Amino acid sequence: MPCPEKEKKDIKSLTLPQLKEELAQMGEKPFRAGQIYRWLHWGARGGQGGDSRRRAVSFGEMTDISAALAGKLDERFYINSLSIRRKLVSRMDGTVKYLLGLSDGNSVEAVVMRYKYGNSLCVSTQVGCRMGCRFCASTLAGWVRNLTPSEMLDEVYTAEADTGEKIASLVLMGIGEPLDNYDNVLRFLEILSSPEGENLSLRHVSLSTCGLVDRIYDLMKLKLGLTLSISLHAPNDRIRGQTMPVSQRYGMDALLKACRDYFAYTGRRISFEYALIDKVNDSPQCARELAERLRGMPCHVNLIPVNPVKERGYQRGSRQNILHFQKLLTGLGINATIRRELGSDINAACGQLRREAEQNQIDASQKRGDLPC
Ligand code: SAH
Repeated sequence: MPCPEKEKKDIKSLTLPQLKEELAQMGEKPFRAGQIYRWLHWGARGGQGGDSRRRAVSFGEMTDISAALAGKLDERFYINSLSIRRKLVSRMDGTVKYLLGLSDGNSVEAVVMRYKYGNSLCVSTQVGCRMGCRFCASTLAGWVRNLTPSEMLDEVYTAEADTGEKIASLVLMGIGEPLDNYDNVLRFLEILSSPEGENLSLRHVSLSTCGLVDRIYDLMKLKLGLTLSISLHAPNDRIRGQTMPVSQRYGMDALLKACRDYFAYTGRRISFEYALIDKVNDSPQCARELAERLRGMPCHVNLIPVNPVKERGYQRGSRQNILHFQKLLTGLGINATIRRELGSDINAACGQLRREAEQNQIDASQKRGDLPC
C-alpha cells in the first residue's frame, strides 16, 4: 500500500505567497514561484489563457525552469495527485460520480452535476466525518483525517481532466464537514480562486455546514462572497437532536442567530438544507414551525427527499407529502424549492460508494493479511 511522501512538502497546498516564501528560502527569484504555481494550478478560464492540460504531475514537465531547479524542487517537494478508483455515469442526465484514491490508500467521492449554466462539482473535505448525522452514510465509520488543500484541488482538477470540461461551480457537500477542516478548506478556496490558478469566483461556491456556530462567525468576518448553506433538517432542537448530535453543542437559537448575523454582515442570503424524512420532520406542523423560525430572514429552503441509507432505515415520505410541505412553506412566505434529483440511477447516497469500497477493501486485506500503512 503506498504511503504519503512524509519527508517532502506538499507543494500544491501552498498559496502563491507561501510558495514565494519557500523559493526565497531556496535562494531563488520570486518570479519563479509564479511560473511553478501556474504549472500546478492554471486552468482555462475567461480569457486567462490558462490550460488545464498543463497541470503538471512532475517538476520535469515545467519547461520554463531549469533542470537544476526542477531537481532542487524534487528534493524538497512532492506534487499530489489522485487516481480514479471507480466512475459511475448516469444514463439519465450525465451525472458522474467518482471514487477517488488518495496517496495513503484512503478514498473520497466527488460528483459532477450537469446544469444549463455549466458543470457543478460536489467536493469532499474530509475522509469520513465525525458529526454523526444519523441519516448520513459518510459518518457511519467515523472520521479518518482531514483532506489537504491539494487533495481538494485535485478533486476539481481530476474531474476537469477526466470530463474535458470546466467546472463552473462548486458545492462543498461531499464527504466531511468543511468547517471542521477550516484552515485547509480556506487555503483550498484561496488557491482555487486565485487568478493564476483555477480563477473560480467564490460567488460560485456553496459551503454546507451542519452548524458549527463559532466557525460560521469566523467565516463571516472574511466576507468571501460564497453562499453559506446550513443543514437544518428540523424546525426545533427536539427533532434536530434525534438526527443531528451537533445540535447538543449548538442549539437552534444560536445557529439561527448566527445566520441572521451572517446575512447582516455579508449581505449574502442563507440557504437551508432540509432533508424530509418520513414521520420524523415532515409533518404540516413542522412546516409551520420552520416558517415561523425563519420569518423575516432572507433565505432559501432546499427540500431534499431523504436518500435512504440501508444501515439507518430512514425513509422518504410520499411525493404528495413533500409537495404539501413545500406549499405550506411558500404559503407562509418562505422561499422553498424541492431539489431536483440528479443521477438517480447511480444514486448511492453521499458516502455510500466510499463505504462500499472500504468494506470490500477490508474483506480483501483480511484475506491477504495486509498491514496498514
Ligand atoms: N457536513 C456538511 C456537508 C456534507 S453533507 C453538512 O452537514 O452540511 C451535504 C448535505 O447532504 C447536507 O445537507 C447533509 O445533511 C445532506 N445529507 C446527508 N445524508 C443525506 C441523506 N441520506 N439524504 C439527504 N440528504 C443527506
